[in-house]
Amino acid sequence: MAVQVTENTPTVALGPAVALSCRECGQRNPLGPIFACQDCFGPLEVAYDLPSGDPEGLKKQIEAGPDNIWRYAPLLPVPADVADKPNLNPGFTKLVQADRLAAELGVTGGLYVKDDSGNPTHSFKDRVVAIAVEAARAFGFTTLSCSSTGNLAGAVGAAARRAGFKSCVFIPHDLEAGKVVMAAVYGGDLVGIEGNYDDVNRFCSELIGDPLGEGWGFVNVNLRPYYGEGSKTLAYEICEQLGWRLPDQIVIPIASGSQLTKIDKGLKELIALGLVEDKPYKIFGAQAEGCSPVSAAFKAGHDVVRPQKPKTIAKSLAIGNPADGPYVLDIARRTGGAVEDVNDEQVVDAIKLLARTEGIFAETAGGVTVGVTKKLIEDGVLDPSLTTVVLNTGDGLKTLDAVAPTSGPTATIRPDLDAFRAAGLAG
Ligand SMILES: *Cc1c(COP(=O)(O)O)cnc(C)c1O
Ligand SMILES: [Zn+2]
Repeated sequence: MAVQVTENTPTVALGPAVALSCRECGQRNPLGPIFACQDCFGPLEVAYDLPSGDPEGLKKQIEAGPDNIWRYAPLLPVPADVADKPNLNPGFTKLVQADRLAAELGVTGGLYVKDDSGNPTHSFKDRVVAIAVEAARAFGFTTLSCSSTGNLAGAVGAAARRAGFKSCVFIPHDLEAGKVVMAAVYGGDLVGIEGNYDDVNRFCSELIGDPLGEGWGFVNVNLRPYYGEGSKTLAYEICEQLGWRLPDQIVIPIASGSQLTKIDKGLKELIALGLVEDKPYKIFGAQAEGCSPVSAAFKAGHDVVRPQKPKTIAKSLAIGNPADGPYVLDIARRTGGAVEDVNDEQVVDAIKLLARTEGIFAETAGGVTVGVTKKLIEDGVLDPSLTTVVLNTGDGLKTLDAVAPTSGPTATIRPDLDAFRAAGLAG
């Protein structure tokens, strides 16, 4: 039986967070390391008592805060003194006005790339882990863990060291070298599982129910409700960086779908709090063709997602059975957006397009998002006359293999001028 709590009686001090509420039936639970509704098994999410009533005062407070996600602490499930605790302090990454990419794609309404490769471990995962670390602290966990498609393992390893936790993280055995080294270098335990991400995730769920996993905080399983809230900071930052304005269209990559659903939650909060004007926005989801269960469901008009066996170079997005898939479908349809996919060749082309036009080297997930943006414009689905934000969620240095075969020296020559002249590169 779920314990009934009343609003404003949290059991731990996590700022404005007051309860965990079921996304399916609305049943409320006290804040704790639980992730599924005891009544209907629906996913739980953080419910808040947010600081409404003085939007201008709140804006000023945020703008005076640190240059990281803790400037939004009044809107997050973290203690009020979070900025003083040892944490990697991610966020406030660059929103790049991408005029040259816009010209190439024919976007006239303003195109921006939110570049989360600038986070401490070079992916957006630092945001979600930072929140989960504070929840783990509040609940007394001493070991941090996760099931990861690559970036999360590195983010957890690094955050655990900074915050003084032990860590043991789980990845599919066949990830890119850049992801494996990033996950290993921080020194916690790293376990390769013989299987794909969905096998890793199933294994971790079993571990949580077993005495072997006792005392472990799995950031994206038993701490998932808190973890997810970290993605709201992308919504907050984008709007603040646009001058407290909503973009008209946002293109977001989908792995489990958590990031996309929480960006929508963040945008709705900003509207409800009066920090931005209430106007429509459209959310678009991006997948790789070789792992496109949400895109397939969107196109077929289904509201359930049929699991797939992933086969794509976009390994950070290779979740065949995405937990938040149905919610992504709801959001894309409700906002008038869409979910689309591109093949591996288009992913590589898009990585190079972004690098060539804006000097941003994205990982394969960024290639998926830029590639889908291009496709949606060509298909007349995305309106080029509207303000559009595209997410780059990771760093190309972690997925070098994707572009290495087609990216090398223009010429290799002897160190003399004749050889250089002969190569025809002068002028
Ligand atoms: C994990 C990840 C995502 C998306 O994650 P969700 O599970 O959908 O929240 C996107 N990009 C990169 C690079 C990632 O590592
Ligand atoms: Zn429920």
